[in-house]
Amino acid sequence: MTSQEIRQKFLDYFKSKDHLIVPSAPIVLKDDPTLMFSNSGMTQFKDFFLGYKTPTAPRIADTQKCLRVSGKHNDLDDVGRDTYHHTMFEMLGNWSFGDYFKKDAIAFAWELLTEVYGIPKENLYVTIFEGDEKENLERDSEAYDYWKEVISEDRIINGNKKDNFWEMGASGPCGPCSEIHVDLRTPEEKAKVSGLELVNNDHPQVVEVWNLVFMEFNRKADGSLEKLPAQHVDTGMGFERLCMALQGKSSNYDTDVFTPLIAKVEELSGKKYTGILEDEKDIAIRVVVDHIRAVSFAIADGQLPSNGGAGYVIRRILRRGISYSYRFLDMKEAFLYKLVAVLQEQMGAFFPELEKQGKLVSEVIKSEEESFLRTIETGLIRVEKLIQQTISEGKNVLPTQEVFELYDTYGFPDDLTRIIAEEKGLTIDEAGFEAKRKEQQERSKTDSAQKVYDWVTLEEKEENFVGYDQIEAETYITRYRKVE
Ligand code: ATP
Ligand code: MG
Ligand code: MG
Ligand code: MG
Repeated sequence: MTSQEIRQKFLDYFKSKDHLIVPSAPIVLKDDPTLMFSNSGMTQFKDFFLGYKTPTAPRIADTQKCLRVSGKHNDLDDVGRDTYHHTMFEMLGNWSFGDYFKKDAIAFAWELLTEVYGIPKENLYVTIFEGDEKENLERDSEAYDYWKEVISEDRIINGNKKDNFWEMGASGPCGPCSEIHVDLRTPEEKAKVSGLELVNNDHPQVVEVWNLVFMEFNRKADGSLEKLPAQHVDTGMGFERLCMALQGKSSNYDTDVFTPLIAKVEELSGKKYTGILEDEKDIAIRVVVDHIRAVSFAIADGQLPSNGGAGYVIRRILRRGISYSYRFLDMKEAFLYKLVAVLQEQMGAFFPELEKQGKLVSEVIKSEEESFLRTIETGLIRVEKLIQQTISEGKNVLPTQEVFELYDTYGFPDDLTRIIAEEKGLTIDEAGFEAKRKEQQERSKTDSAQKVYDWVTLEEKEENFVGYDQIEAETYITRYRKVE
């Protein structure tokens, strides 16, 4: 099954179950003071859950472009280093707004995975919320009872509050969730260790694919829970992980979501992708094919790289891709922009914004690449000078102020400075550098605090910003209303 067919099957299935199929919301949010990017399928529906808007339909399904690079959900450090976390990914989701609840949500998910997609039941595990005495939360025995009708009880795992209880904020809608995990290991590997032990343990072949959230309660400002008058379902399934499971691969990057992009990088760089986890060249290739998607979709949705807010996040992602390819793929000239056509070819039919904006996207990326490559080149000369100066002074630590300036004023990646210095037997003053970086962050925080309620400036606090789901719901609500 191709990835296109897998996506379509999901939508067709939920359409056949009376869901309204809606398009993905933009990946960049322009009207949410508390969040820069869509980071889950429910982002575009949160007003429905908060009761600010009436749902357009009681049952909805879609695929949502998500970006998890800031705030509460920040997977950036894992991207390229593992095989199943991306910056940008698609989250397939189905929702019930006061309509069906646990029984149907579980039945739909199970039927789709095992009967429509044909995943063997022996490869699946599910988790349920085990309860939390301290918080006075009950075990989700209701979900347990529905699961045990379809899966053997020894495959139902108890999960704690952290993994299996979802809350929008310190107050507001919340409830237990059930996750579905898939075990893609070979029979020999399975014989060695039980998959039960590997669930939620960062095993690259035993991965979470789908999260079913049952919004059952409202947490009041005093912390107590009350049953919501209408109960909702909010689910999210990682599309690229589903493709890995259905295409019999052991890495998201081996699915047809990524292979055309990887083939193009191989062609342009003359380097071969071997899929090794720790190999720097392979990490760089994964980083590049991941980041080009994030950046392309963001630009196609109207977010140009810039020096502040969401634009700065996008610029940093792109620069991270350029640094990796400069260092590990020996790409000294702009080339990432050439991947846009491949992405367009592969995803443009479903995401027309890529078709429409393709030319702009590749032009913007090209000019960003060219200018950052110039930064790298001039930065390299500066670093070289600093090194000579340090050595001639008989020291072995680069001067912190200059190192920070390179990073802050010239945009030269600090890890590059570090690596080059180390090659010459020098170091940088890590604590001093970190202190300067913190100072700088504080300054920009104070700047933006003066302009509260403007989503762009709030974004600038991104470094320390935790996302709406960790803000006190009341603060969230006041802010939100002010903006409206
Ligand atoms: P994980 O524990 O693997 O980080 P999660 O629990 O943070 O995932 P959820 O917030 O429950 O993820 O999102 C729903 C689904 O989206 C997950 O079950 C997973 O399949 C997918 N997903 C989450 N984060 C990513 C990511 N960074 N890249 C690709 N898919 C993801
Ligand atoms: Mg996560
Ligand atoms: Mg998880
Ligand atoms: Mg989860």
